[in-house]
Amino acid sequence: MFTILPFIWIVKHPSSWSLASENIPAIVSYISSVIGFSGIMSLLWMYILGTRTVAGLYFRDLVWTLKVHRWLGTYGIVAVFLHPFLMAYVYAENVFTYWLTPRLGSQFEQHITYGRLAFILLVTIWVTSAIVRSKIKYRPWKYIHYLTYIILPLSILHIHETGVSMQLPFVQFYFYVTIFIYIVITVLRFRYFLGFGKTIFDIAENSQVASNIFMLTLHQPSKRLSIRPGQYVYVQRHLLSEEHPFSVADYDPDTGNIRLVYKVFGSFTEKLSALKKGEVILVDGPYGTFTEQIVMDQNKPTIFVAGGIGITPFIKHIERRTSFKNTWLFYSVPDRNSSIYNDVFVRLLGDKYVRILSRETQPHQQNDRIGHLDAKTIHEYAKSFDEYLYFICGPKAMINDLRSQLLESGVSFVQIYTEEFGF
Ligand SMILES: Cc1cc2nc3c(=O)[nH]c(=O)nc-3n(C[C@H](O)[C@H](O)[C@H](O)COP(=O)(O)OP(=O)(O)OC[C@H]3O[C@@H](n4cnc5c(N)ncnc54)[C@H](O)[C@@H]3O)c2cc1C
Repeated sequence: MFTILPFIWIVKHPSSWSLASENIPAIVSYISSVIGFSGIMSLLWMYILGTRTVAGLYFRDLVWTLKVHRWLGTYGIVAVFLHPFLMAYVYAENVFTYWLTPRLGSQFEQHITYGRLAFILLVTIWVTSAIVRSKIKYRPWKYIHYLTYIILPLSILHIHETGVSMQLPFVQFYFYVTIFIYIVITVLRFRYFLGFGKTIFDIAENSQVASNIFMLTLHQPSKRLSIRPGQYVYVQRHLLSEEHPFSVADYDPDTGNIRLVYKVFGSFTEKLSALKKGEVILVDGPYGTFTEQIVMDQNKPTIFVAGGIGITPFIKHIERRTSFKNTWLFYSVPDRNSSIYNDVFVRLLGDKYVRILSRETQPHQQNDRIGHLDAKTIHEYAKSFDEYLYFICGPKAMINDLRSQLLESGVSFVQIYTEEFGF
């Protein structure tokens, strides 16, 4: 708000605020300019917050930076959609066709056309991200999202020659600061793109441990990362490949070894599963603050709830606990072949480990329960539910259902922490 509000004062004001008909275009032009400049500032914030390579330099918890990014993208940017329609009104053009008609005659027209292009790209990204995101696959959505990289330069080019306020010193100052920040952020992004800040790890082992689930052990003899239980890292097969996040299931600060456990899901994890011992991969991180509340006090009364591969952030926490008096693990999987670390959990947690099998008809060990995981099941076991902190990790639907059931059953909002395996 601090960076956007000043536009109300610094943009060129109409000479009068009278609502006489001959003065209306000047007032509309002012409103449209404020909206346009604010839109560029919002885009800059989205550019800063939307990537961990920049936000990650200052914040360990990227979830809220992504939330602000998403909020700005969904709601903050909507006002900008008015800008071309208002300008069409000011220029007495057809409000429906003006923003769609590319004109390249004069330099002024060319710069308006940069704005038209930026607007069309912005609407495309907005529709695919805010309206139909759940209907399109992750990759097509991601590639469309990359169009963001050209919207900001196009918008800057657009206002440079067309903004009537550009002659005003404060506006010029803002404009050059915006360009400077844009360049700095782009350099920082590019730095990561070239591999700076990432660590090369050798693959010590990459083997299947359960149905569709692999364990990847990585070795780095010279550089020690400082990873806290529950954090995640980004993994990249090579500099030009995609980067995907994975929780660190185990980390040994003495040897520098990292262990990831991943489920083969789509094309990236499929290629990851084909990597052999001796090959190298790039690791960026760690990030995340999901289980921070129990990092310092590892014996706090805790209920871990994992859906499928969502068990990974809890493995290290459970292994390093010295007392299991107040620790429960509810681990929901379709069948026994999909659960990992089962023997470890049975050994450490005993009857405080409940494995919930949704697709089996009978239990295979004492800790098994057939059915679906819900808050009622949890409270059947862990009776004094208000003492505990709840950490839930798994698919979005499971997290949302369980959170509302727990809240309904009297668990306080501040006792529940969640992590979704997808942004
Ligand atoms: C913080 C965090 C920790 C995770 N930890 C683990 C783990 O320990 N083990 C594990 O098996 N999985 C984990 N995941 C999920 C894992 O990142 C995805 O399953 C994996 O990236 C899927 O890639 P794919 O090519 O196999 O499938 P795709 O078909 O490409 O993706 C399937 C879904 O995964 C999500 N996804 C894909 N790529 C990314 C990305 N670059 N960033 C964010 N989300 C993405 C999207 O929601 C997508 O719809 C974690 C995810 C997050 C956000």
